[in-house]
Amino acid sequence: AKTTGRDMALFYSAETDQRALARQTMEQQLRRALERQELSLHYQPRLSAKGGGLLGVEALLRWNNATLGHIPPSEFIPIAEETGMIRAIGGWVLQQACEQWVRWQVPLSGPSARGLVHPLAHVSISVNLSAAQLADPLLVSDIEALLARTGMPAHRLELEITESQLMDNAHAAEQQLAALKSLGVQLSIDDFGTGYSSLAYLKRFDIDRLKVDKSFVHDMLSNPADMAITRAIIALGHTLGLKIVAEGVEDLATAQVLSALDCEELQGYHFSRPLPPEALHAWALEHGV
Ligand code: C2E
Ligand code: CA
Ligand code: CA
Ligand code: CA
Repeated sequence: AKTTGRDMALFYSAETDQRALARQTMEQQLRRALERQELSLHYQPRLSAKGGGLLGVEALLRWNNATLGHIPPSEFIPIAEETGMIRAIGGWVLQQACEQWVRWQVPLSGPSARGLVHPLAHVSISVNLSAAQLADPLLVSDIEALLARTGMPAHRLELEITESQLMDNAHAAEQQLAALKSLGVQLSIDDFGTGYSSLAYLKRFDIDRLKVDKSFVHDMLSNPADMAITRAIIALGHTLGLKIVAEGVEDLATAQVLSALDCEELQGYHFSRPLPPEALHAWALEHGV
């Protein structure tokens, strides 16, 4: 028992070294990821709760590295944020998403479908913004230039921002969001209910949607507290004139209850996982949305 303390200290430091090394390797690999074309976007459908129609898709980053394999965004986005790489990566995401939207405007080709409108032509695309992007004074002019260059109408682009991003520097965020809004893009608050937000500020931001965090949606049918929180967010959002999106909808029963609670829009594995463009195209044709 006497040596336990010392052994533990060695154990912890070896583990800490290993973790630092893994993180260093990931950072080094991430620095080359864009030029090596290891990043891609998957798209997850967002549907109307009442009619079931496809309203939009959320762009979600994927990273497939030769040595590290598939790394989830929850692991590499924080590194991209800490190192400042998120500006380049986030800019790339915006560009890819707009270019993808433009490709969906081209009518279908091929013997049976020639000339038909693409099934994804009418969607909007949501892009997640990181705090560093929101703080960037060039963000608005960059997005304006991107829209002009690609020809994508601003109202088809939706930006997702978390509560904490808004609250960290509420004054700057308010001005930035107002400028984005005047371009005509749509704005959502992501992961709503997990951060803290001042309701007074919520009123001041010109937001279109609240996304109820999936941690509440996931167990809402079995957990009365989660159900109460979800109902409260829907009621609050409606009072402020916002549309409500529930994310993380994994089964039909949850979708039905959310629809009965007047939640307008649904997203989750019950409808589709995030998919690469070709698979999303096939999904849209198959579901006739
Ligand atoms: P998020 O913005 O909250 O995205 C939703 C996450 O929930 C995605 O995880 C999605 O795959 C997952 N999800 C969707 N439906 C369900 C469901 O029914 N059940 C469950 N359990 N999960 C579901 P993903 O793709 O791993 O992304 C994780 C987070 O990484 C995102 O959370 C977002 O915060 C961040 N992220 C992803 N792409 C980007 C990006 O391009 N830029 C920035 N800044 N962040 C991104
Ligand atoms: Ca999101
Ligand atoms: Ca979310
Ligand atoms: Ca998130």
